[in-house]
Amino acid sequence: DLSGKTAVITGSNSGIGLGIAQVMAQAGADVVLNSYTDNDEDHALAAEIAKDHGVTARYIQADMSKGDQCRALIEQAGACDILINNAGIQHVAPIPEFDVGKWDAIIAINMSSAFHTTAMALPMMRKAGWGRVINIASAHGLTASPYKSAYIAAKHGVVGLTKTTALETAEEPITANAICPGYVLTPLVESQIPDTMKEYDMSREDVIKNVMLKRQPSKEFATVEQMGGSAVFLCSDAAAQITGTTLSVDGGWTAL
Ligand code: NAD
Repeated sequence: DLSGKTAVITGSNSGIGLGIAQVMAQAGADVVLNSYTDNDEDHALAAEIAKDHGVTARYIQADMSKGDQCRALIEQAGACDILINNAGIQHVAPIPEFDVGKWDAIIAINMSSAFHTTAMALPMMRKAGWGRVINIASAHGLTASPYKSAYIAAKHGVVGLTKTTALETAEEPITANAICPGYVLTPLVESQIPDTMKEYDMSREDVIKNVMLKRQPSKEFATVEQMGGSAVFLCSDAAAQITGTTLSVDGGWTAL
């Protein structure tokens, strides 16, 4: 039961972040949603979670590509017992052609943001006497694929930051771990299916099994609910001695 705890989830107006926020709220946590936009729909998502689960839910705009805004997010949240660093973007290109601006943005959003939020959250967790840092890395935090240099460098970096955070908090009731998802069927991934069907002249089923899930031995997508459940587990007493490690939720990808 996470009632009385506040979970701040970066990049949570869609996909995995939103799914984790919903499962956290279901477990009783108050939640802070975030993205770089500030639309009515963003605030409506928070209102809906509050209504569905009887918790306090707020949406706070902050651009995770900017260090000062990462820090301001945690400050504005006012409490941060559970920090979930989830915001992330992708760009695919061979290294010589990889756009430098895209490299910098991916390193900032997917990796450095976690440094800034963690720097602000740890003193709050220490004051509260309990804390959980959960970084959403990736199977690409543990293995590589071609053409995703920035993403893979950032995700490996996040795994390293997770280990360091764990060592700096090792003797305290604070843990730091990374969840490493394989392919998750988020709206972002779903939207790629029709084009890929056309490109390969394949059925939806074949695109999913033979193109998207080529490296995922289970041949099934992981779900946002499973990411939420994994995060709630890492907040449980059973996980109090799990720190500085990675939890792969990838259908066997990293066993290959
Ligand atoms: P998504 O695009 O649905 O979600 C990304 C979230 O980050 C969105 O809420 C977006 O608004 C937010 N975001 C992007 N740039 C931001 C910025 N500058 N500031 C604040 N928020 C920003 O994608 P997703 O699939 O839900 O991905 C979430 C995380 O999970 C990412 O870190 C991603 O690398 C990781 N992941 C996803 C998969 C997958 O298959 N979907 C697999 C492994 C890891």
